[in-house]
Parts: sequence; C-alpha cells; structure tokens
Amino acid sequence: MSAKQAGEFIRALAAANPAPETELEYSSPYTLLVAVALSAQATDVSVNKATRTLFPIASTPEAMVALGVEGVAEHIRRIGLWQSKAKNVVALSQMLIEKFGGEVPADRAALESLPGVGRKTANVVLNVAFGEEAMAVDTHIFRLGNRTGLAPGDTPRAVEDQLMKRVPPDLLRDAHHWLILHGRYVCKARAPECWRCVARAFCNYGQKVNAPPAR
Ligand code: SF4
Repeated sequence: MSAKQAGEFIRALAAANPAPETELEYSSPYTLLVAVALSAQATDVSVNKATRTLFPIASTPEAMVALGVEGVAEHIRRIGLWQSKAKNVVALSQMLIEKFGGEVPADRAALESLPGVGRKTANVVLNVAFGEEAMAVDTHIFRLGNRTGLAPGDTPRAVEDQLMKRVPPDLLRDAHHWLILHGRYVCKARAPECWRCVARAFCNYGQKVNAPPAR
C-alpha cells in the first residue's frame, strides 16, 4: 500500500469517528496506567467491571499499596492473569512512590521500568494521558496492519514503526484509537465485515467479505 493510500485509509476512519476515545474507564494518568496494565489478554469490558470496584477504594499509588496484593486480587479475579497482575499493580505503585514522587512519568524509559509495563502499555499512557504521538500495537492493530496492507510486519514493533511512518502527521495522535476500534468492531479477527467498512476502497485485502444474505 502506498503512503498516499495509507493516508486515505486512516482519513476514512477519522471522518467516520472524529473524536475517538479509549473504552477503558479512568480518571487520571495513574488509573489509566493501572487499567491498561490490567487489560493485557482481557477485554476492556472486563477491566472496567473490575476497576469500578477497585478505583473507588484505590485511585492513587499510596492507596493501592495500602490495599495490598490480596486486596487488589479481590477485585480483579475475573480478569486473565489476575494473580501476576495484582502483584504488578502493587509493585508498580510502590515504585511510583519510591522513584517518581507518586506521579506517572511522561517518559517511555521510565514507564517501561515499572513492573508489568511493556512498550504497548507505555504507548497507550504516553498517547492517552500525555498527548504524545505514540502507536500502541495490540492484537487488533497487528492483524489489521497485516491484513489490509496498511502496515505489514512480522512483529508488533515492525507494525508500529510502519504506522509511525505512514499515518499522516495530523492524524497520528488519534490513529491508535481509530485502528483499535476498527479492528475490534469491523475488521474482526474471524471475519472482517467489509460490506460496512468505510475504508474498503483503500484496503488491499484480497478476500473482502460481502454482507450475509437477508433472511
Ligand atoms: S475492507 Fe474488510 S479487510 Fe479491509 S479494512 Fe475493511 S473490514 Fe478490514
């Protein structure tokens, strides 16, 4: 796909949803960081269910440390990998207090030094909380980038690098949201719903799916 075509692809998504937002519920950079850390291999819906009881009790690093691993675990047991996530959330909160004055750092290396925080989580926090042009490549964006020809790559990092080069600069800030939402609701894993895709004219996927026959 040419850079021009890639730009048109993203512009089509942008026109259909001018003000995209993350579906995770949060009220501060800290609660966003915790929500994103909990969201690995879990749906945003399941994370929101958990944080609706967790955050009223613990919305700061100090309160999370006071709650402790067992206390956090009580709220997140329905999320995948909950045991390691409970440990990580308390450990990262402790590190925020000890090294960063209790604040979430707006710096990639500092974010990635926190327990359980990898490049994808750091990218979401940098983008959503601090307004940086960062591209968090999750399973949806990885699939979409390869399927459509928008950003082919063997690894999430390769797809991320392609997208950072190909997405028009004025759309970089929000492109991560458009692509995740498109992958989650239209260009789905099992069968893309090409018949209602606003970017269809710019997509290189060779097996586009038409609407199922009306009953
Ligand atoms: S046309 Fe189909 S494969 Fe291409 S982006 Fe749209 S939903 Fe995905």
